[in-house]
Amino acid sequence: MNRKHAFARLPLFPLTAEINGKHHLTIGGCDTVELAASFGTPLYVFDESTLHSKCLEYRREFGGRYPDTAIVYACKAFISPALAVLLQHEGLGLDVVSAGEIGIARSVGFPSEKVYFHGNNKARQELELALDWGIGRVVVDNFHELSLLARLADETKRTQDVLLRLSPGVDAHTHKYVATGVLDSKFGFPVSTGQAEEALAMAMAAPGLNVLGLHFHLGSPIFETEPYLTAIEIVLGFAAQMRDRLHFDLRELNVGGGFAIQYLTDSPPPPVEAYAEAIVSKVVEHCARLGLTSPRLVIEPGRGIVGRAGVALYTVGGTKEVPGIRKYVFVDGGMGDNIRPPLYGAVYEAVVANKADEAETEQVTIAGKFCESGDVLIKDIRLPNLQQGDILAVPACGAYCVPMSSNYNAFFRPAIAFVGDAKARLVRRRETHEDLIRCDLA
Ligand code: PLP
Repeated sequence: MNRKHAFARLPLFPLTAEINGKHHLTIGGCDTVELAASFGTPLYVFDESTLHSKCLEYRREFGGRYPDTAIVYACKAFISPALAVLLQHEGLGLDVVSAGEIGIARSVGFPSEKVYFHGNNKARQELELALDWGIGRVVVDNFHELSLLARLADETKRTQDVLLRLSPGVDAHTHKYVATGVLDSKFGFPVSTGQAEEALAMAMAAPGLNVLGLHFHLGSPIFETEPYLTAIEIVLGFAAQMRDRLHFDLRELNVGGGFAIQYLTDSPPPPVEAYAEAIVSKVVEHCARLGLTSPRLVIEPGRGIVGRAGVALYTVGGTKEVPGIRKYVFVDGGMGDNIRPPLYGAVYEAVVANKADEAETEQVTIAGKFCESGDVLIKDIRLPNLQQGDILAVPACGAYCVPMSSNYNAFFRPAIAFVGDAKARLVRRRETHEDLIRCDLA
Protein backbone atom coordinates (compact mmCIF):
# COMPACT_ATOMS: atom_id res chain seq x y z
CA MET A 1 0.00 0.00 0.00
CA ASN A 2 1.43 3.38 -1.01
CA ARG A 3 0.57 5.59 1.94
CA LYS A 4 2.92 8.37 0.95
CA HIS A 5 0.52 10.75 -0.75
CA ALA A 6 -2.33 10.81 1.75
CA PHE A 7 0.14 11.45 4.55
CA ALA A 8 1.84 14.11 2.44
CA ARG A 9 -1.52 15.88 2.21
CA LEU A 10 -2.31 15.72 5.92
CA PRO A 11 -0.48 19.02 6.65
CA LEU A 12 -3.08 20.79 4.50
CA PHE A 13 -5.77 19.55 6.90
CA PRO A 14 -6.48 20.78 10.43
CA LEU A 15 -3.76 20.23 13.02
CA THR A 16 -5.66 17.30 14.54
CA ALA A 17 -6.07 15.37 11.27
CA GLU A 18 -5.10 11.71 11.48
CA ILE A 19 -5.82 8.42 9.76
CA ASN A 20 -7.42 5.84 12.04
CA GLY A 21 -7.33 2.06 12.10
CA LYS A 22 -10.29 1.90 9.69
CA HIS A 23 -8.21 3.91 7.17
CA HIS A 24 -10.56 6.84 7.68
CA LEU A 25 -9.59 10.46 7.98
CA THR A 26 -10.29 11.84 11.44
CA ILE A 27 -10.48 15.48 12.51
CA GLY A 28 -10.67 16.60 16.10
CA GLY A 29 -10.89 12.94 17.04
CA CYS A 30 -14.04 12.50 14.91
CA ASP A 31 -14.21 10.03 12.05
CA THR A 32 -15.08 12.14 8.99
CA VAL A 33 -16.91 9.21 7.36
CA GLU A 34 -19.18 9.03 10.41
CA LEU A 35 -19.63 12.82 10.34
CA ALA A 36 -20.76 12.56 6.73
CA ALA A 37 -23.19 9.79 7.67
CA SER A 38 -24.60 11.71 10.66
CA PHE A 39 -24.94 15.17 9.16
CA GLY A 40 -25.05 14.48 5.41
CA THR A 41 -22.93 16.07 2.73
CA PRO A 42 -21.76 18.55 1.59
CA LEU A 43 -20.61 19.20 5.14
CA TYR A 44 -18.16 21.81 6.33
CA VAL A 45 -16.23 20.64 9.36
CA PHE A 46 -14.24 23.09 11.50
CA ASP A 47 -11.66 21.88 13.95
CA GLU A 48 -11.90 23.95 17.13
CA SER A 49 -8.40 23.09 18.19
CA THR A 50 -6.96 24.52 14.95
CA LEU A 51 -9.06 27.66 15.39
CA HIS A 52 -7.68 28.15 18.90
CA SER A 53 -4.12 27.41 17.79
CA LYS A 54 -4.28 29.90 14.95
CA CYS A 55 -5.60 32.66 17.23
CA LEU A 56 -2.79 31.86 19.66
CA GLU A 57 -0.18 31.80 16.90
CA TYR A 58 -1.15 35.26 15.61
CA ARG A 59 -1.27 36.65 19.15
CA ARG A 60 2.10 35.11 20.00
CA GLU A 61 3.95 35.99 16.80
CA PHE A 62 2.71 39.57 16.46
CA GLY A 63 1.97 40.41 20.10
CA GLY A 64 5.21 38.78 21.27
CA ARG A 65 7.21 41.09 19.01
CA TYR A 66 5.02 44.16 19.33
CA PRO A 67 2.88 44.13 22.48
CA ASP A 68 0.59 46.92 21.31
CA THR A 69 -0.95 44.75 18.61
CA ALA A 70 -4.66 44.10 18.10
CA ILE A 71 -5.76 41.03 16.13
CA VAL A 72 -9.01 41.82 14.38
CA TYR A 73 -10.55 38.82 12.61
CA ALA A 74 -11.99 39.53 9.15
CA CYS A 75 -15.52 38.08 9.32
CA LYS A 76 -15.83 37.93 5.55
CA ALA A 77 -13.66 34.80 5.58
CA PHE A 78 -16.43 33.03 7.53
CA ILE A 79 -18.57 34.03 10.49
CA SER A 80 -21.33 32.45 12.53
CA PRO A 81 -22.48 33.02 16.09
CA ALA A 82 -20.51 29.96 17.25
CA LEU A 83 -17.31 31.28 15.71
CA ALA A 84 -17.90 34.80 17.05
CA VAL A 85 -18.13 33.36 20.59
CA LEU A 86 -14.91 31.40 20.12
CA LEU A 87 -13.09 34.47 18.78
CA GLN A 88 -14.33 36.60 21.65
CA HIS A 89 -12.90 34.09 24.13
CA GLU A 90 -9.63 34.26 22.22
CA GLY A 91 -9.55 38.03 22.72
CA LEU A 92 -9.75 38.93 19.03
CA GLY A 93 -11.63 41.87 17.56
CA LEU A 94 -13.85 41.67 14.47
CA ASP A 95 -13.69 43.34 11.08
CA VAL A 96 -17.23 43.60 9.74
CA VAL A 97 -18.49 44.92 6.41
CA SER A 98 -22.27 44.95 6.70
CA ALA A 99 -25.27 45.34 8.96
CA GLY A 100 -25.55 41.55 8.72
CA GLU A 101 -22.09 40.94 10.16
CA ILE A 102 -22.75 43.58 12.83
CA GLY A 103 -25.96 41.69 13.62
CA ILE A 104 -24.08 38.42 14.14
CA ALA A 105 -21.56 40.13 16.43
CA ARG A 106 -24.38 41.76 18.40
CA SER A 107 -26.31 38.51 18.68
CA VAL A 108 -23.56 37.01 20.83
CA GLY A 109 -22.85 40.18 22.81
CA PHE A 110 -19.50 40.79 21.12
CA PRO A 111 -17.90 43.93 22.62
CA SER A 112 -18.69 46.73 20.15
CA GLU A 113 -15.49 48.62 20.90
CA LYS A 114 -13.48 45.76 19.41
CA VAL A 115 -15.28 45.90 16.08
CA TYR A 116 -13.97 47.66 12.95
CA PHE A 117 -16.44 48.61 10.23
CA HIS A 118 -15.13 48.32 6.65
CA GLY A 119 -16.65 48.59 3.20
CA ASN A 120 -16.69 50.87 0.18
CA ASN A 121 -20.41 51.63 0.12
CA LYS A 122 -21.70 51.60 3.67
CA ALA A 123 -25.34 52.63 3.68
CA ARG A 124 -26.60 55.45 5.89
CA GLN A 125 -28.65 52.92 7.92
CA GLU A 126 -25.59 50.73 8.39
CA LEU A 127 -23.56 53.68 9.65
CA GLU A 128 -26.40 54.72 11.96
CA LEU A 129 -26.58 51.17 13.32
CA ALA A 130 -22.82 51.12 13.83
CA LEU A 131 -22.80 54.47 15.63
CA ASP A 132 -25.76 53.54 17.82
CA TRP A 133 -24.05 50.31 18.78
CA GLY A 134 -20.85 52.16 19.72
CA ILE A 135 -18.67 50.46 17.13
CA GLY A 136 -14.94 50.73 17.83
CA ARG A 137 -13.76 52.15 14.51
CA VAL A 138 -15.26 53.07 11.20
CA VAL A 139 -12.67 52.60 8.47
CA VAL A 140 -13.59 55.38 6.07
CA ASP A 141 -13.17 54.32 2.46
CA ASN A 142 -14.05 57.33 0.25
CA PHE A 143 -15.19 60.96 0.14
CA HIS A 144 -18.89 60.12 -0.05
CA GLU A 145 -18.68 58.10 3.15
CA LEU A 146 -16.52 60.70 4.82
CA SER A 147 -19.14 63.43 4.35
CA LEU A 148 -21.99 61.11 5.31
CA LEU A 149 -20.30 59.92 8.48
CA ALA A 150 -19.19 63.41 9.48
CA ARG A 151 -22.81 64.59 9.10
CA LEU A 152 -24.23 61.64 11.04
CA ALA A 153 -21.77 62.07 13.89
CA ASP A 154 -22.58 65.77 13.99
CA GLU A 155 -26.35 65.21 13.96
CA THR A 156 -26.19 62.66 16.76
CA LYS A 157 -23.60 64.65 18.77
CA ARG A 158 -21.18 61.74 18.80
CA THR A 159 -17.45 61.52 18.32
CA GLN A 160 -16.61 58.48 16.25
CA ASP A 161 -13.12 56.98 16.13
CA VAL A 162 -12.12 56.42 12.53
CA LEU A 163 -9.26 55.19 10.40
CA LEU A 164 -8.80 56.24 6.80
CA ARG A 165 -8.35 53.42 4.33
CA LEU A 166 -5.50 54.27 1.98
CA SER A 167 -4.70 52.77 -1.36
CA PRO A 168 -0.89 52.73 -1.29
CA GLY A 169 -0.45 51.64 -4.92
CA VAL A 170 1.26 48.34 -4.13
CA ASP A 171 0.77 45.20 -6.22
CA ALA A 172 0.64 42.16 -3.95
CA HIS A 173 0.91 39.71 -6.88
CA THR A 174 -2.42 38.09 -6.22
CA HIS A 175 -5.43 37.49 -8.52
CA LYS A 176 -6.81 40.77 -9.87
CA TYR A 177 -10.20 40.10 -8.25
CA VAL A 178 -8.58 40.08 -4.82
CA ALA A 179 -5.89 42.73 -5.27
CA THR A 180 -7.04 45.80 -3.37
CA GLY A 181 -3.99 47.93 -2.67
CA VAL A 182 -3.34 48.95 -6.28
CA LEU A 183 -4.12 52.44 -7.58
CA ASP A 184 -6.92 51.24 -9.86
CA SER A 185 -9.06 49.81 -7.05
CA LYS A 186 -12.51 50.66 -5.73
CA PHE A 187 -11.13 50.68 -2.18
CA GLY A 188 -9.45 53.47 -0.29
CA PHE A 189 -7.99 56.93 -0.82
CA PRO A 190 -5.00 56.83 -3.18
CA VAL A 191 -1.82 58.24 -1.66
CA SER A 192 -0.14 59.11 -4.96
CA THR A 193 -2.97 61.30 -6.33
CA GLY A 194 -3.14 63.60 -3.30
CA GLN A 195 -6.65 62.36 -2.41
CA ALA A 196 -5.43 60.73 0.79
CA GLU A 197 -4.13 64.07 2.03
CA GLU A 198 -7.33 65.85 1.03
CA ALA A 199 -9.40 63.22 2.86
CA LEU A 200 -7.26 63.40 5.97
CA ALA A 201 -7.56 67.17 6.13
CA MET A 202 -11.36 66.90 5.78
CA ALA A 203 -11.62 64.17 8.40
CA MET A 204 -9.45 66.05 10.87
CA ALA A 205 -11.59 69.14 10.40
CA ALA A 206 -14.85 67.24 11.10
CA PRO A 207 -15.88 67.85 14.73
CA GLY A 208 -17.56 64.44 15.07
CA LEU A 209 -14.64 62.40 13.79
CA ASN A 210 -11.55 61.39 15.72
CA VAL A 211 -8.95 60.24 13.21
CA LEU A 212 -6.92 57.64 15.06
CA GLY A 213 -4.94 56.30 12.18
CA LEU A 214 -4.53 54.75 8.78
CA HIS A 215 -5.43 51.43 7.21
CA PHE A 216 -4.46 49.53 4.11
CA HIS A 217 -5.25 46.05 2.85
CA LEU A 218 -3.30 44.82 -0.14
CA GLY A 219 -5.24 41.75 -1.23
CA SER A 220 -5.49 38.11 -0.39
CA PRO A 221 -3.80 35.68 -0.23
CA ILE A 222 -0.34 37.27 -0.28
CA PHE A 223 2.42 34.68 -0.45
CA GLU A 224 5.24 37.20 0.05
CA THR A 225 6.17 39.57 2.86
CA GLU A 226 7.68 42.19 0.54
CA PRO A 227 4.41 43.94 -0.48
CA TYR A 228 3.60 44.65 3.20
CA LEU A 229 7.01 46.27 3.67
CA THR A 230 6.62 48.51 0.64
CA ALA A 231 3.13 49.55 1.74
CA ILE A 232 4.26 50.23 5.33
CA GLU A 233 7.02 52.52 4.02
CA ILE A 234 4.54 54.40 1.84
CA VAL A 235 1.90 54.76 4.55
CA LEU A 236 4.32 55.70 7.33
CA GLY A 237 5.99 58.15 4.94
CA PHE A 238 2.55 59.64 4.30
CA ALA A 239 1.87 59.82 8.06
CA ALA A 240 5.14 61.68 8.63
CA GLN A 241 4.36 64.17 5.88
CA MET A 242 0.89 64.70 7.33
CA ARG A 243 2.39 65.23 10.79
CA ASP A 244 4.47 68.04 9.32
CA ARG A 245 1.71 69.54 7.19
CA LEU A 246 -1.47 68.91 9.23
CA HIS A 247 -0.19 68.04 12.74
CA PHE A 248 -1.60 64.55 12.23
CA ASP A 249 -0.79 62.13 15.02
CA LEU A 250 -0.72 58.48 13.87
CA ARG A 251 -1.93 56.43 16.81
CA GLU A 252 -3.02 53.34 14.94
CA LEU A 253 -1.60 51.59 11.87
CA ASN A 254 -3.77 48.84 10.42
CA VAL A 255 -1.97 46.71 7.82
CA GLY A 256 -5.01 44.59 6.91
CA GLY A 257 -4.99 40.85 6.34
CA GLY A 258 -4.05 38.68 3.40
CA PHE A 259 -1.77 36.19 5.18
CA ALA A 260 -1.66 33.10 3.01
CA ILE A 261 -2.38 29.50 3.98
CA GLN A 262 -1.28 26.29 2.32
CA TYR A 263 -3.61 24.95 -0.36
CA LEU A 264 -1.18 22.69 -2.22
CA THR A 265 1.40 20.30 -0.83
CA ASP A 266 4.21 21.91 -2.80
CA SER A 267 3.30 25.58 -2.24
CA PRO A 268 3.88 26.43 1.40
CA PRO A 269 3.25 30.06 2.35
CA PRO A 270 5.54 31.99 4.69
CA PRO A 271 4.84 31.00 8.30
CA VAL A 272 2.97 33.52 10.47
CA GLU A 273 6.28 34.14 12.21
CA ALA A 274 7.80 35.43 8.94
CA TYR A 275 4.95 37.88 8.32
CA ALA A 276 5.17 39.05 11.93
CA GLU A 277 8.94 39.46 11.91
CA ALA A 278 8.94 41.37 8.62
CA ILE A 279 5.99 43.65 9.46
CA VAL A 280 7.00 44.43 13.03
CA SER A 281 10.65 45.10 12.14
CA LYS A 282 9.61 47.43 9.36
CA VAL A 283 7.15 49.35 11.54
CA VAL A 284 9.68 49.76 14.37
CA GLU A 285 12.58 50.68 12.11
CA HIS A 286 10.64 53.04 9.88
CA CYS A 287 8.88 54.83 12.75
CA ALA A 288 12.28 55.42 14.34
CA ARG A 289 13.69 56.69 11.06
CA LEU A 290 10.81 59.13 10.56
CA GLY A 291 10.62 60.19 14.21
CA LEU A 292 7.08 58.85 14.60
CA THR A 293 5.85 57.56 17.95
CA SER A 294 5.17 53.84 17.56
CA PRO A 295 1.46 53.45 16.79
CA ARG A 296 -0.79 50.63 17.86
CA LEU A 297 -0.48 47.90 15.22
CA VAL A 298 -3.66 46.24 13.95
CA ILE A 299 -3.76 43.17 11.73
CA GLU A 300 -6.87 41.68 10.17
CA PRO A 301 -6.33 38.00 9.36
CA GLY A 302 -9.36 36.15 8.03
CA ARG A 303 -8.13 33.19 6.01
CA GLY A 304 -5.12 32.80 8.32
CA ILE A 305 -7.40 32.05 11.29
CA VAL A 306 -10.08 29.85 9.72
CA GLY A 307 -8.68 28.56 6.42
CA ARG A 308 -6.86 25.48 7.63
CA ALA A 309 -9.45 24.69 10.29
CA GLY A 310 -12.17 23.96 7.72
CA VAL A 311 -12.63 20.81 5.63
CA ALA A 312 -15.36 20.21 3.06
CA LEU A 313 -16.81 16.69 2.86
CA TYR A 314 -18.60 15.54 -0.26
CA THR A 315 -20.13 12.25 -1.36
CA VAL A 316 -19.04 10.83 -4.69
CA GLY A 317 -21.83 10.15 -7.16
CA GLY A 318 -21.32 9.24 -10.79
CA THR A 319 -18.33 9.42 -13.06
CA LYS A 320 -17.83 10.21 -16.74
CA GLU A 321 -14.89 9.06 -18.74
CA VAL A 322 -13.97 10.92 -21.91
CA PRO A 323 -11.63 8.34 -23.50
CA GLY A 324 -8.10 9.56 -23.83
CA ILE A 325 -8.98 12.94 -22.34
CA ARG A 326 -10.22 12.90 -18.80
CA LYS A 327 -12.20 11.08 -16.13
CA TYR A 328 -14.69 13.24 -14.31
CA VAL A 329 -15.81 12.26 -10.83
CA PHE A 330 -18.95 14.03 -9.65
CA VAL A 331 -19.57 15.12 -6.07
CA ASP A 332 -22.74 16.37 -4.40
CA GLY A 333 -21.54 19.98 -3.98
CA GLY A 334 -19.40 22.34 -6.00
CA MET A 335 -19.64 25.98 -6.98
CA GLY A 336 -22.72 26.55 -4.80
CA ASP A 337 -20.69 25.92 -1.65
CA ASN A 338 -17.23 26.76 -3.03
CA ILE A 339 -17.14 29.33 -5.80
CA ARG A 340 -13.39 29.95 -5.45
CA PRO A 341 -12.14 27.67 -8.25
CA PRO A 342 -14.42 29.08 -10.98
CA LEU A 343 -14.23 32.62 -9.59
CA TYR A 344 -10.48 33.04 -9.44
CA GLY A 345 -8.86 29.79 -10.34
CA ALA A 346 -8.35 28.62 -6.76
CA VAL A 347 -6.67 25.22 -6.49
CA TYR A 348 -7.20 22.42 -3.99
CA GLU A 349 -6.05 18.91 -3.20
CA ALA A 350 -8.18 16.20 -1.58
CA VAL A 351 -8.12 12.90 0.25
CA VAL A 352 -10.67 10.10 0.03
CA ALA A 353 -11.83 10.08 3.63
CA ASN A 354 -12.86 6.41 3.71
CA LYS A 355 -9.70 5.24 1.87
CA ALA A 356 -7.38 7.76 3.41
CA ASP A 357 -4.19 5.77 3.05
CA GLU A 358 -4.91 3.81 -0.13
CA ALA A 359 -2.61 4.12 -3.10
CA GLU A 360 -3.43 6.85 -5.60
CA THR A 361 -4.05 4.88 -8.73
CA GLU A 362 -5.77 7.26 -11.12
CA GLN A 363 -5.90 10.84 -12.23
CA VAL A 364 -9.35 12.40 -12.11
CA THR A 365 -11.08 15.75 -12.25
CA ILE A 366 -13.55 16.47 -9.48
CA ALA A 367 -16.63 18.24 -10.82
CA GLY A 368 -19.60 19.56 -8.88
CA LYS A 369 -23.29 19.07 -9.58
CA PHE A 370 -24.20 22.60 -10.63
CA CYS A 371 -25.29 23.41 -14.17
CA GLU A 372 -22.14 25.14 -15.31
CA SER A 373 -19.22 23.57 -17.19
CA GLY A 374 -16.94 25.69 -15.02
CA ASP A 375 -18.19 23.90 -11.91
CA VAL A 376 -14.93 22.04 -11.40
CA LEU A 377 -13.56 21.78 -7.87
CA ILE A 378 -10.21 20.13 -8.62
CA LYS A 379 -8.68 19.61 -12.04
CA ASP A 380 -6.34 16.65 -12.51
CA ILE A 381 -5.64 15.11 -9.13
CA ARG A 382 -4.28 11.65 -8.41
CA LEU A 383 -6.50 9.74 -5.98
CA PRO A 384 -7.36 6.15 -5.07
CA ASN A 385 -9.99 4.66 -7.35
CA LEU A 386 -13.22 6.47 -6.51
CA GLN A 387 -16.56 4.68 -6.25
CA GLN A 388 -20.06 5.96 -5.72
CA GLY A 389 -20.58 6.64 -2.02
CA ASP A 390 -16.95 7.42 -1.24
CA ILE A 391 -16.38 10.53 0.86
CA LEU A 392 -14.06 13.15 -0.54
CA ALA A 393 -12.40 15.48 1.97
CA VAL A 394 -11.11 18.79 0.64
CA PRO A 395 -8.76 20.63 3.04
CA ALA A 396 -8.18 24.37 3.48
CA CYS A 397 -11.87 25.13 2.95
CA GLY A 398 -12.44 27.21 6.08
CA ALA A 399 -12.20 30.59 4.37
CA TYR A 400 -14.33 32.18 1.64
CA CYS A 401 -16.31 29.02 0.84
CA VAL A 402 -19.38 28.99 3.10
CA PRO A 403 -19.76 32.80 3.19
CA MET A 404 -19.73 32.98 -0.61
CA SER A 405 -22.11 30.04 -0.97
CA SER A 406 -25.31 30.46 -2.94
CA ASN A 407 -28.58 28.75 -3.68
CA TYR A 408 -27.73 28.44 -7.36
CA ASN A 409 -29.93 25.77 -8.95
CA ALA A 410 -32.02 25.94 -5.76
CA PHE A 411 -29.62 23.68 -3.93
CA PHE A 412 -29.49 23.89 -0.19
CA ARG A 413 -26.49 25.52 1.40
CA PRO A 414 -24.41 23.09 3.47
CA ALA A 415 -24.43 22.24 7.12
CA ILE A 416 -21.48 23.17 9.36
CA ALA A 417 -20.13 21.13 12.27
CA PHE A 418 -17.51 22.12 14.82
CA VAL A 419 -15.39 19.22 16.09
CA GLY A 420 -13.07 18.80 19.04
CA ASP A 421 -12.25 16.26 21.74
CA ALA A 422 -13.85 13.52 19.63
CA LYS A 423 -17.22 15.32 19.73
CA ALA A 424 -19.09 17.07 16.95
CA ARG A 425 -21.75 19.76 17.22
CA LEU A 426 -23.81 21.13 14.40
CA VAL A 427 -23.44 24.92 14.37
CA ARG A 428 -25.50 25.43 11.21
CA ARG A 429 -28.06 22.98 9.94
CA ARG A 430 -28.43 22.26 6.25
CA GLU A 431 -31.02 24.41 4.52
CA THR A 432 -34.39 22.96 3.72
CA HIS A 433 -37.01 23.59 1.09
CA GLU A 434 -38.79 25.92 3.55
CA ASP A 435 -35.61 28.00 3.91
CA LEU A 436 -35.35 28.25 0.15
CA ILE A 437 -38.79 29.76 -0.34
CA ARG A 438 -39.20 31.67 2.92
CA CYS A 439 -38.74 35.07 1.26
CA ASP A 440 -40.90 34.28 -1.74
CA LEU A 441 -44.38 35.70 -2.02
CA ALA A 442 -46.83 33.49 -3.86
N1 PLP B 1 -9.15 43.25 5.85
C1 PLP B 1 -9.78 43.72 4.76
C2 PLP B 1 -10.09 45.16 4.69
C3 PLP B 1 -10.16 42.86 3.73
O1 PLP B 1 -10.81 43.34 2.66
C4 PLP B 1 -9.86 41.48 3.84
C5 PLP B 1 -10.21 40.53 2.77
O2 PLP B 1 -10.64 40.82 1.72
C6 PLP B 1 -9.22 41.03 5.00
C7 PLP B 1 -8.88 41.93 5.97
C8 PLP B 1 -8.92 39.59 5.23
O3 PLP B 1 -8.10 39.02 4.29
P1 PLP B 1 -7.60 37.54 4.56
O4 PLP B 1 -8.78 36.70 4.78
O5 PLP B 1 -6.85 37.16 3.35
O6 PLP B 1 -6.70 37.60 5.76
